[in-house]
Amino acid sequence: MDASQVFCPNLDCMARGKIGEGNVVSHGKARPRYRCKTCGKTFSAQAGAMFEGLRKPKALIVIVVTRLPYGCPIQAIVQAFGLDERTVASWRDRAGKHCQQVHQAVVQHGQLDLVQVQADEIRVKGHKLIAWMGLAMMVSTRLWVGGVVSLTRDRSLADRLLQQVRACCQPMCALLVCTDGWNAYVRRVGVYEIPVRHGRGREQEPLGQELTRRGNSMATVACS
Ligand SMILES: [Zn+2]
Repeated sequence: MDASQVFCPNLDCMARGKIGEGNVVSHGKARPRYRCKTCGKTFSAQAGAMFEGLRKPKALIVIVVTRLPYGCPIQAIVQAFGLDERTVASWRDRAGKHCQQVHQAVVQHGQLDLVQVQADEIRVKGHKLIAWMGLAMMVSTRLWVGGVVSLTRDRSLADRLLQQVRACCQPMCALLVCTDGWNAYVRRVGVYEIPVRHGRGREQEPLGQELTRRGNSMATVACS
């Protein structure tokens, strides 16, 4: 264990978040732990990770949570790996929460030169349930910069999605947001709207296949 690359996660510790200060030392070998000499607290080597407190092999957990976003049914995983359904659901929720934290900590720092973003919404039909997921993607890198789930496709969804986009974007720069024509984006944040007319054939669609073929529009947004 390399304690020099670990920081103390204790919220009340003066040395919290500081790496390479020499305050964190190895503590215990049976189950990897560290101890902070500043506050005296010990913490797991997995502290802050989605694996914290889980006793199943890390490789198995990774295999399971990798299958879920590709649509593998939970019941199939339960049968294949001999797991409890609630365990799989718990790992799914842990992974989702951790991914959200990583996204907020790493991507939403206002450092990206987005230039162009595409935003769209997906309608999801569940058991007695209709939900919407708004998604925004940076065009040049295909990086997902935002995602919002809502039971209604309303202005609140557009607002929250664009707040995430703004959080990723460098300040004081113009941003081109391409949408499927839904005016909620433009009305809330747009400076002006540029309707895109369509003829026949893919070659006349300037923005690629991610956009739907009806009523696309572009809006320039000033990020500040
Ligand atoms: Zn500490």
